[in-house]
Amino acid sequence: MTDTLSTPTFTVAQERRIVSAIPGPKSQELHQRRLAVVPTGVSSALPIYIARANGAILVDVDGNQFVDFGAGIGVTTVGHTEKAVVAAAAEQLQDVIHTLFTITPYEEYVRVAELLAEHTPGDHAKKTVLVNSGAEAVENGVKIARKHTGRRAVAVLDHAYHGRTNLTMAMNYKAMPYATGFGPFAGDVYHAPNSYPYRDSLSGEEAAARTIAYLEKVVGASDLACLVAEPIQGEGGFVVPAEGYLAALQEWCTANGVVFIADEIQSGMARTGAYFASEHFGLVPDLVLSAKGIAGGLPLAAVTGRAEIMDSAQPGGLGGTFGGNPVAAAAAIAVFEQIEKGALLAHGARIEKALKPALENLQQKYDIIGDVRGIGAMIAIELVQPGTGQTTKTPNPDAVNAIIAYAAQRGILFLNAGTWGNVLRFLPSLAVSDELIADAVSVLDDAFAAL
Ligand SMILES: *Cc1c(COP(=O)(O)O)cnc(C)c1O
Repeated sequence: MTDTLSTPTFTVAQERRIVSAIPGPKSQELHQRRLAVVPTGVSSALPIYIARANGAILVDVDGNQFVDFGAGIGVTTVGHTEKAVVAAAAEQLQDVIHTLFTITPYEEYVRVAELLAEHTPGDHAKKTVLVNSGAEAVENGVKIARKHTGRRAVAVLDHAYHGRTNLTMAMNYKAMPYATGFGPFAGDVYHAPNSYPYRDSLSGEEAAARTIAYLEKVVGASDLACLVAEPIQGEGGFVVPAEGYLAALQEWCTANGVVFIADEIQSGMARTGAYFASEHFGLVPDLVLSAKGIAGGLPLAAVTGRAEIMDSAQPGGLGGTFGGNPVAAAAAIAVFEQIEKGALLAHGARIEKALKPALENLQQKYDIIGDVRGIGAMIAIELVQPGTGQTTKTPNPDAVNAIIAYAAQRGILFLNAGTWGNVLRFLPSLAVSDELIADAVSVLDDAFAAL
């Protein structure tokens, strides 16, 4: 067992171990209790109930150990129960748990805002509002952009995911399961074509021209408050836009007084080998949204942006009871320190190097792997029907589901993604070792062979 982070020791052996049926008897019992009291709308990808977690490993109530390639959808980027994060949160619990920043403030909130000002793209003056969830960050980003511009319309990209609140339901691409039956929805949200190199074969310039034509013709630039875009789409299937696409959109937004909002909720906070994925594309967004990985697992989210845009909201217009909770903020400060001290950015690059070429090798062997893509610890493969990888690229969600089930039985947790559910995504914590990655790839190889 080798430590890959600054954490000197893991408290759980970094290995997979299956000691019962999956799910085991204790998980099955808990699942029966859950079915009686938790609504079906809250589903679980795998009904194994977790008792402990550390580094890249989850331990369930039956004593099985799983290598976690989901990290709670990219939340425990620094590793599960990372020691410095736990210590910072524990210390904060002793000092103060809640005051409400909008009544009597505290330093931790200010420090997180300073760190975000320092580490989000661009050297301009920046300000930050802290909230509880990613969707709430999206909502606040849109609020601020509308107030700043005095305009009403919001544009998003095809295949996007932005959350489960009323406004963000309208901003998602997929109706099922996120929106179907839950309307009426917020108006003035426009879905523009994105850049999806595997499926549209367009250059960044061509894809940007298509997006901009939509914005100009269908929305009209003078009514558009903001364009909200994930630099690398998360739920959409880790779609990396073609080179030059995002920069061209940003240039158009700037020229037309449109606020460019980068939703970095999944792609940010050291996930891709940079603090924010925008950096890979030379993007300096007007507003940056953070959440998921920011506080090592505690709930915290942020809107960080140009000071003059952020200051457009009136006093009292932004906030919320739990926003910027001191314990979550203390954990976030520790996450930033770990990124600096533990060279976590280098771990993103390391994971890409260990994983991506191995997946490309599998692609040579198995023609249902249509595409291998992603940056850092945000890598995916898109599966298609046999023989269609270069032609119709017909989605193959059944293969993704079969592989996830096969791997889970062997102690490896993979997640799906993508508009058609045909993408297998890898977003491990940065604590995952090269050995665990190699092990996972060999299980994946067996899973493809068994299909
Ligand atoms: C998860 C996610 C959200 C929503 O965050 P919640 O904390 O679940 O509300 C928004 N945007 C992106 C890109 C996400 O991945």
